Amino acid sequence: MSGMADHSAPDLATALRTRGLRMTAQREQVLDAVRRLGHATPEQISDAVTGVDVTTVYRNLELLEELGLVRHTHLGHGAPAYRPADDDHVHLVCHACGNVIDAPPDLVDALAGRLADDRGFVLDRSHFTVFGRCRDCVAAEQTADSGR
Ligand SMILES: [Zn+2]
Ligand SMILES: [Zn+2]
Ligand SMILES: [Zn+2]
Repeated sequence: MSGMADHSAPDLATALRTRGLRMTAQREQVLDAVRRLGHATPEQISDAVTGVDVTTVYRNLELLEELGLVRHTHLGHGAPAYRPADDDHVHLVCHACGNVIDAPPDLVDALAGRLADDRGFVLDRSHFTVFGRCRDCVAAEQTADSGR
């Protein structure tokens, strides 16, 4: 496919410089925590980075997202979950057990194509979460049903 995103994310110092901003230890630590934790909420990042409160983490994450270095999604009703921008995938979340399953972005190709064709609507894949019930939970329900 043409027009694919460049998977080598710009490095933080370069990205900041293009905006006239300086590299700080705090910005670097927040980005490192996103890379290390995976699906991290601002609270979890604040816990992982000593001496940086949640409000400051939110501010840093907004900047990093503007710079194209991180993305967020919503895996439930709580805080957004952040990941590195080059880690492109969609999420399946089980309502029953809370399990988060990473799926390849082409999973939603048919939906994205239909939305574009029918409505001229562009799907934001990285922001997209599919909610439902996972295989294990469906199997457990079926076992419970047959035991009645
Ligand atoms: Zn959002
Ligand atoms: Zn489940
Ligand atoms: Zn994920």
